[in-house]
Amino acid sequence: MNRQETEQNNEESKTEKELRKELAQTKLELKVLLDNIPGGVFSYDADTGKFDFISEGVLSIFQCTMEQFREHYYNSFELFVYKGDRASVREMIENQISFFDTVELTYRVRDLMDNIMWIIHKGKLLINEDGSRKFYVVISDVTTEKLVQQQLSEITEKLYIETERYKLIEEAADNTQYDYDVNEDVLTTSRKDADGNRIIIKDCRKNNLIKAMIFEEDYPTFESALKKAFSEPLKGVVEYRSTNDNGDIVWFRLNYASFEQHNRITRIVGSEKDITVEKRQHEELKAQVERDGMTGLLNKTTMQSEVEDYLKTCDINACHALLMIDTDNFKGVNDNLGHMSGDDVIKFVASTIKDTFRDSDFVGRMGGDEFMVFMKYTTPGITEERAGRLNSRIKRTITENGVSVNISCSIGIAYYGRDGEDYDSLYKAADDALYVAKEAGKDCYRVYEKG
Ligand code: GH3
Ligand code: MG
Repeated sequence: MNRQETEQNNEESKTEKELRKELAQTKLELKVLLDNIPGGVFSYDADTGKFDFISEGVLSIFQCTMEQFREHYYNSFELFVYKGDRASVREMIENQISFFDTVELTYRVRDLMDNIMWIIHKGKLLINEDGSRKFYVVISDVTTEKLVQQQLSEITEKLYIETERYKLIEEAADNTQYDYDVNEDVLTTSRKDADGNRIIIKDCRKNNLIKAMIFEEDYPTFESALKKAFSEPLKGVVEYRSTNDNGDIVWFRLNYASFEQHNRITRIVGSEKDITVEKRQHEELKAQVERDGMTGLLNKTTMQSEVEDYLKTCDINACHALLMIDTDNFKGVNDNLGHMSGDDVIKFVASTIKDTFRDSDFVGRMGGDEFMVFMKYTTPGITEERAGRLNSRIKRTITENGVSVNISCSIGIAYYGRDGEDYDSLYKAADDALYVAKEAGKDCYRVYEKG
């Protein structure tokens, strides 16, 4: 070996030594890097699935030693993945690797305490010189993020459903929604203006705008409901009349709720429904049940309950009168002019009685040709004047096809307190007085007298 060759060998062995040193240094640096990387790193054989390298980061995610990790998962990547996700993980890796040499997926893992963890997995496939294939993978624990995301999507879904439902209700029921901001004194409505924007009313309370929208008669009820809603958080319903966009008088029902923040009512929300049709139907039904079909006066049952209710709360020192009225010789109308004419006479007597007394008095048909009137806050003078006026208004001769029948009416009067304090005793006293009027020759009134 010449000198030159010897020098060359020395050069090579020096390079090899340095290279080994450099390699050791690199390995150390790599280990430091791997151990300090956020998350963890592992590698596994792409064909057998056996774990090869497992970094400290992986062990710290799973809070276990290397032995515990390898033992728990049988040193197999396949068994590392949560059972329910294994098939999809296998499929996703196969799919992704057929296009790229990298894979990226999220799956669940059961940790050593049996808790479910969510893992993000980023892997790269490397083929070694000997043809063996290995996946090098970086993983991170994203359990918290995943849970937050899940909750968020649940909330979003709920919110979506609520919003959709709200929209549906709004559209289907044609209701108007109100949202009143107490502090700002601003009322936001679901009504739209000509440009399609929600109508927002500022300085609502300051300018008394709500009062202006509601029927004067209905405002006291509305106001007291509103006052309560301002004083404590509650839910309620109130009905009132107002005018709609076409200027028609409309009945509305407002379902409302008030909400507080730091012990102060800050918001009142409400949903207003047009109940005009409902109200009309209700009134018609009520009338059918409460009123006499032929005359429209209160029927016997309603008359009794109205008078009884009134007597429960009435001013006991005031004068109230109960009058029994019976048509005289009514059978004569039926017999001589026919039942149709008889019905007309009943309608005539009914409307004459209605016109003779005040609207606030109760007027009812007790059956056949018999009627009752309950006069509130009257005097004996007024009562008898009205009774006399009724006698003269009813008295007449009805002639049809040359046949004439005279009709008139007899009236019995009883006074609340003096002649009775309840419905039954007043009724009886007035009926007795009526009998006396009939006995006296009809076409007159009599006030009840004891004995
Ligand atoms: P009085 O002067 O004593 O009152 O005798 P009256 O002829 O008026 O007979 P009364 O009051 O005793 O009888 C009323 C009659 O009214 C009895 C019944 O046949 C008749 N009637 C009852 N309901 C109706 C009705 O709805 N239509 C018609 N046309 N007649 C009725
Ligand atoms: Mg009669």
